[in-house]
Amino acid sequence: MSKLKLAIQKNGRLSEKSLKLLEECGIKISNGTRKLKAVSSNFPLEILFLRDDDIPQYVEQGVADIGIIGLNEVLEQKKNIDLVQKLGFAQCRLSLAIPKEETYNGIQFFENKKVATSYPEILSNYFQENNINAQIEKIGGSVEIAPGIGLSDGIFDIISTGSTLLTNGLKEVETVLESEAVLISSQNLSDENQEILNKLLFRINAVKEASESKYILLNAPNENLEKIINLLPGMKSPTVLPLAESGWSSIHSVIKEDKFWEVIENLKNEGAQGILVLEIEKMIL
Ligand code: ATP
Ligand code: MG
Repeated sequence: MSKLKLAIQKNGRLSEKSLKLLEECGIKISNGTRKLKAVSSNFPLEILFLRDDDIPQYVEQGVADIGIIGLNEVLEQKKNIDLVQKLGFAQCRLSLAIPKEETYNGIQFFENKKVATSYPEILSNYFQENNINAQIEKIGGSVEIAPGIGLSDGIFDIISTGSTLLTNGLKEVETVLESEAVLISSQNLSDENQEILNKLLFRINAVKEASESKYILLNAPNENLEKIINLLPGMKSPTVLPLAESGWSSIHSVIKEDKFWEVIENLKNEGAQGILVLEIEKMIL
């Protein structure tokens, strides 16, 4: 039987989370995780461990069928591949930064300036869209030291917390791209492999939905039941069970993580008590 070949980063910021995603999808990897290749014992998947920069190329050439990689690399490399799905981890942003003592009054700052980056393609597109003529210096790493050593007037780089910028006397002035890990696919998948990919995507979506949701249980006074139910959209509508104590009901529902605190506040204001919030492992809609 055919196996789908998935390329993931061998060592780096994407590795652990990529493996964790597979594990959450119930995919067991038998022969270790630090070799060049591994196979799953319970899913038609073969895993290739590679440098992240090489993954788009391998997927384009069909050496791997699919891959997990930062959106930043996908946009930088412009290979002929399909972007299948955002995965919701390894979030970071690509931003422009300049020495903190400089006054910044808009993107015009960069006119005729030099900017050092490892992402020249994304940056030149951005400057073009904004009609800025700037000189882009491509360097491989340690971009943040470029202004300090006189190589450039500013930098364009990955930022997650901003502490590297701070240590190097820089300030972030424009966010150009919000990035996260994505699943990419070859444009020439066989029908058989497409079917395996669909099965994998079904599982990934169930894991993703679950991680973005919480299961909530609470006790509500019956006179406010209607109002409380309206605060809880749930998957269909919430489950309402009578409590032994008359005048009270127990409500069960699912809420989105990003709405979580707001919903809890409102529930309390309507008299909800004994609110329990639980993790959801998988969620099939
Ligand atoms: P490799 O040795 O595989 O080439 P690398 O050093 O190029 O690794 P990593 O630093 O492991 O790559 O980053 C991989 C991806 O993780 C980045 O392309 C980016 O999408 C994402 N990422 C998330 N947060 C950060 C961060 N704070 N710094 C760098 N990359 C980040
Ligand atoms: Mg790399």
